[in-house]
Amino acid sequence: MKQHTSVLVIGSGAAGLAAALRLHALGARPVIITEGVRLGTSVNAGSDKQTYYKLGLTGAQSDSPALMAAGYTAGGSADGRLALIESALSTRAFFQLVELGVAFPKNDCGEYVGYKTDHDPRSRATSAGPYTSRDMCRALLAEVRRRRIRVLAPWMVTRLITAAQQGDRPRRVVGVVMVHRKTARRRVLRADAIVFAVGGPGGLYRASVYPESQFGAIGLALAEGAEAVSLPESQFGLASFTPWRGGEFRWNVSGTYMQVLPRVVSTDQEGGDQREFLTEFLPGGELFRRLFLKGYQWPFDAAKLSGSSLIDMLVFHENVCRRRRVFLDYRSNPAGLDFSALDSEPRDYLSRSGALFGTPIERLAAMNPKAIALYRDHGVDLAKEMLEIRLCAQHNNGGLAVDPWWESTSVEGLFPIGEVAGTHGVTRPGGSALNAGQVGAIRAAEAITQRTFPRHKEDARLCRAALKEPVPSARAAGEIPDWRRQRREFQDRMTRFAGHLRSQDGCAEALRHARAQYESLSASPLPDQPLCRCESLRNRQLLFAQIIYLEAILSQITSGTGSRASSLVLSPEAEPIHPKLPGQWRAAPEDKKFRSLRLFTRFDPDTGRCENRWEQCPPIPEPDRWFESVWAKQPRKTNP
Ligand SMILES: Cc1cc2nc3c(=O)[nH]c(=O)nc-3n(C[C@H](O)[C@H](O)[C@H](O)COP(=O)(O)OP(=O)(O)OC[C@H]3O[C@@H](n4cnc5c(N)ncnc54)[C@H](O)[C@@H]3O)c2cc1C
Repeated sequence: MKQHTSVLVIGSGAAGLAAALRLHALGARPVIITEGVRLGTSVNAGSDKQTYYKLGLTGAQSDSPALMAAGYTAGGSADGRLALIESALSTRAFFQLVELGVAFPKNDCGEYVGYKTDHDPRSRATSAGPYTSRDMCRALLAEVRRRRIRVLAPWMVTRLITAAQQGDRPRRVVGVVMVHRKTARRRVLRADAIVFAVGGPGGLYRASVYPESQFGAIGLALAEGAEAVSLPESQFGLASFTPWRGGEFRWNVSGTYMQVLPRVVSTDQEGGDQREFLTEFLPGGELFRRLFLKGYQWPFDAAKLSGSSLIDMLVFHENVCRRRRVFLDYRSNPAGLDFSALDSEPRDYLSRSGALFGTPIERLAAMNPKAIALYRDHGVDLAKEMLEIRLCAQHNNGGLAVDPWWESTSVEGLFPIGEVAGTHGVTRPGGSALNAGQVGAIRAAEAITQRTFPRHKEDARLCRAALKEPVPSARAAGEIPDWRRQRREFQDRMTRFAGHLRSQDGCAEALRHARAQYESLSASPLPDQPLCRCESLRNRQLLFAQIIYLEAILSQITSGTGSRASSLVLSPEAEPIHPKLPGQWRAAPEDKKFRSLRLFTRFDPDTGRCENRWEQCPPIPEPDRWFESVWAKQPRKTNP
């Protein structure tokens, strides 16, 4: 294997694969490093109708990049420049996928029709079905293989090697240390530029709908001083988890899964003492209206506590506070369901969908038979058994801070793209995550191929030193921590203190425990067995990431943002959420002034300190739009 490559792409999700193709098309020879091409979120996650967001391309309704960017920034704490770029390049990104064979629906006249998703005023959303991101990956990977782009797998990157800041020159990437997942062999690879496409922080939470194979590796970049932005802005929502092939199949129970109004029941840990617990809190038809709305208001939203989001809180309460299991049951109707007494919105919707009849499973069969088939394909027959659910982490809107070319704002040559890049604000239109990954791939590839990255004599020395770093092995004295137990400990902590429900004291306590656990892990020997060794190394970067996330969340709470989007901040002065819920569950009202600001967080590897600061959001730019002058500024040679 070569010791040096010009461009490395870490990760083979939809973003990483797209970047490799874009780089290759521009003449670069990228190398992809991945733990496995079948691992990660894009290849394994999906939903009722997995959404891809792009500029409106159908009918008489007007649309433009500027309008789309305005939608992107409407939720606040977003960078207007990135919003305009993600909007402007959305068609280019989308049509590459179309050309590669992703089957987005089009009508007889070739229009790519759309529908409205959350935070979307203009029906810009489209979908190739429940597995849009998997279809994207399959199409992109086929092209990667056709172009013979090198893929190194199964290698796990365990460290980014960077050279320290020198004068005005920021810290810069030099290479990576990676470990072979089957043999635990270590290697170093030097690189001029690194596209960092390692996905979202799925491994941080215990209650998670990220696929089991998605852990994320943001901790590697944070440890090297890569600046982060909007880390506290995550999405949480209801998801099912069922045993599947020795692991767990996880799925969002959004859309029709809720709109058909299933029974929501809880049981004790052994499955006994079944109760329709929601009626205790929401008597009468009110329950059905909120349950129905949950279908298309999937993420928990602190602003909808008087509406659909109370359902999330009640499930969480039953699950965590009362320690009971919660299920959706499609076999019979919930107690008290009377079609004639239903609120007009669910009644009209079900009636127009030909589903104002029968039991939940019959309504689901009428409205969305594929939703039943999907579970059948994963060993669950919804006509016969119940579906266990909980409130789960699903997506991080924040991540590493990038400039308009998707280069890290603090580490030169590092290009975070996809979910690990923090390009979204407090809210985002459904489907914009997949668009962001494809657009980031275009920008990073263009930036990398238009620049010459200088090589320095010290780089080889830094790489040699990184490889020689002592990794205490099992043969060294000391007890080897059980990596599974260690992971459970920090995942539980994150779900408990940094999930949808947050408090200043809770976060401060969690941070203290996270630091102590990190210190103890860093000083412990690593097991020799390859899998255990890899997972122990992963624990270190995940735990480091947890510390930085908690620092950011604590800073946000103490700044006084209050409750916003998927995070509810507890405040003793506020009104109780519901008279029958715990008395301390009072949502601090949002201070909207923070919507014009973004929270930046950076760990400084030289001082070992982590700092947070708020910065004004860059507005949506008004770039030169006069054709003659833009044309005159174009480079003579067009891209191949
Ligand atoms: C249930 C669910 C439903 C969703 N629905 C939608 C939707 O409808 N619309 C939408 O836009 N978004 C949706 N999302 C979000 C979206 O799917 C993800 O944000 C997106 O797929 C992330 O793509 P990615 O390429 O950045 O990362 P991933 O697809 O997660 O890929 C990360 C890659 O990096 C590799 N990797 C990680 N760490 C290392 C390491 N240390 N060394 C080597 N390789 C490494 C992984 O193995 C993987 O190949 C959903 C997410 C979930 C969980």
